[in-house]
Amino acid sequence: MRKRFLPPTLVVILTALLFSITLWAANPAQDLQNGVQKKDRTKVKKVVEELVSQNDVKACNTLLDALTPPPDAGIYWLILEGLSRLSNSDAISKLSAYILTNKTKDISRDLLGAMKNNRSPTILPLLKDVLGKGPEDMKIESLHQLGSIQTKESLEVLFAFIATLDEKNDKDLVKETIGALKRVTGADKGNYPASWLAWWKENENKQLTDIIKPKTSAGGAINSVKDYRDMTGVEDLPKEKVFVVRNDRCDKHYQSDRNYDKIQEVLTKLGVPHTVLGKSELESDSFNWKEAWVLVFNCNYYKDLHCGKDCKGGGVATGARTQGCIGTGDHMNHDTELSNQTIQKIKEFVESGGYLFTEDLNIREIIVRAFKGIITDTKEITDQTVQILPAPGAILHPYLKYVFEAPPSSDAPAIPSSEEKSGETQSVKPGEFRIDSEWKIDNGSPDIKILKKDVVTVLVMSPKLVNKSNPEGAIAVTWGVSGQNIVTTGGDKSSYAGGGRVLHVMSHFGHQKSKVDEFALQNLILNFLIELNQRRPKAKK
Ligand SMILES: [Zn+2]
Ligand SMILES: [Zn+2]
Ligand SMILES: [Zn+2]
Repeated sequence: MRKRFLPPTLVVILTALLFSITLWAANPAQDLQNGVQKKDRTKVKKVVEELVSQNDVKACNTLLDALTPPPDAGIYWLILEGLSRLSNSDAISKLSAYILTNKTKDISRDLLGAMKNNRSPTILPLLKDVLGKGPEDMKIESLHQLGSIQTKESLEVLFAFIATLDEKNDKDLVKETIGALKRVTGADKGNYPASWLAWWKENENKQLTDIIKPKTSAGGAINSVKDYRDMTGVEDLPKEKVFVVRNDRCDKHYQSDRNYDKIQEVLTKLGVPHTVLGKSELESDSFNWKEAWVLVFNCNYYKDLHCGKDCKGGGVATGARTQGCIGTGDHMNHDTELSNQTIQKIKEFVESGGYLFTEDLNIREIIVRAFKGIITDTKEITDQTVQILPAPGAILHPYLKYVFEAPPSSDAPAIPSSEEKSGETQSVKPGEFRIDSEWKIDNGSPDIKILKKDVVTVLVMSPKLVNKSNPEGAIAVTWGVSGQNIVTTGGDKSSYAGGGRVLHVMSHFGHQKSKVDEFALQNLILNFLIELNQRRPKAKK
């Protein structure tokens, strides 16, 4: 049979048609706008990927044009993340100009914050610009980011900057710069700029490998945030002032633990000095509230429940976390909820400068009773894993330091170390990390609804939890509390109001699927404790 060929003119026409279709389809600006308008995350993600690989000023402009404050936080962070992955130097100077021009806006903070996973030395000029002309919180963030770029150029920027600082008037900047120097060099020359500058004078001409020895470069799996973050302000917390509270009321008569979490174990692993306290000890008259700086509550079961010595869950579910009893003998009922009197004491404790960390079910037992009208829960969430993101405008908050960023080293092995039991969480694979991370919500976790929006800062949110009645989709929130017994803290430049603070988080430690997700929680609580430690000595004066 004769093969048929297309007439040459038709081939030309078809080629031209195909070419114009390709041209028409390849309009990323239009595609991106469409995706944003239709809230089509898959489409936005695809166009962002294309623009990131295009990696030029044009791509940068297209992304910036599509960047508007979110109705949809998921899309907002997709675009920011795209911008943060550009490495073309013209694009970087464009971003630097954008950040400085919009320095009073949240969007500018979110963009700078998103840069934290870009460890390419090409972003050094941007960080340097912000150090020169940005407001203080942005300078702090730039210093922090310099701490995870392990190059000599990064050290040059840090040393040039510290030389301009005044030890007394620029305390926070000095502290942050030294923190970054410690992380890049792996050295510890103390807390004074002069000793670091002297060290630099001696070492600046040495080989790179002699001056840059970050903690993580020795290899080995990163099993806790302690392996890479600056822990200044953690180890010297006074043990007798940091209390982890657990439900001890059933220890003697019930065969298993009434606590859903063991934060004391996490703190021990992180090297945080603390004292474990039973609920019964907290409620006894001998507990000295004035001595405490912080109360960290383990989520625990406190409702009226069978508590006989042979009681045993196993029957049909009677609630999100309860089952019928299949035990025998005395089905003694037991309620271990904190008394109203203790709740009142907790309230006064925070009002007078105390710090309070609560998780999960604590929102019902403690928060809504002690702090009426601030936040509440409206329903129990079913077992699921959700994507988490920084709440828009919150990424530079001191509590989110290290939370949405990858561990710095690219040398750490991706495979679990030999001591790691199978079934445990996986070690971190550097370079794979993106802004978003995942959060495991246990069955029956109460949600968080913000009632007083002007008081509460949402730190972490999930687009999945956003709905009409809960537009914030909060996972972690914080607020300041002040009462008549305010302990004045912070210096003139301090942005803290007097009084204490609450940090409440949905779900638990130790239940997260991967180490990176677990690290988010570890960093959150460490930042909280570091701030506390920083404020307390001032408060004593
Ligand atoms: Zn009991
Ligand atoms: Zn029973
Ligand atoms: Zn819980």
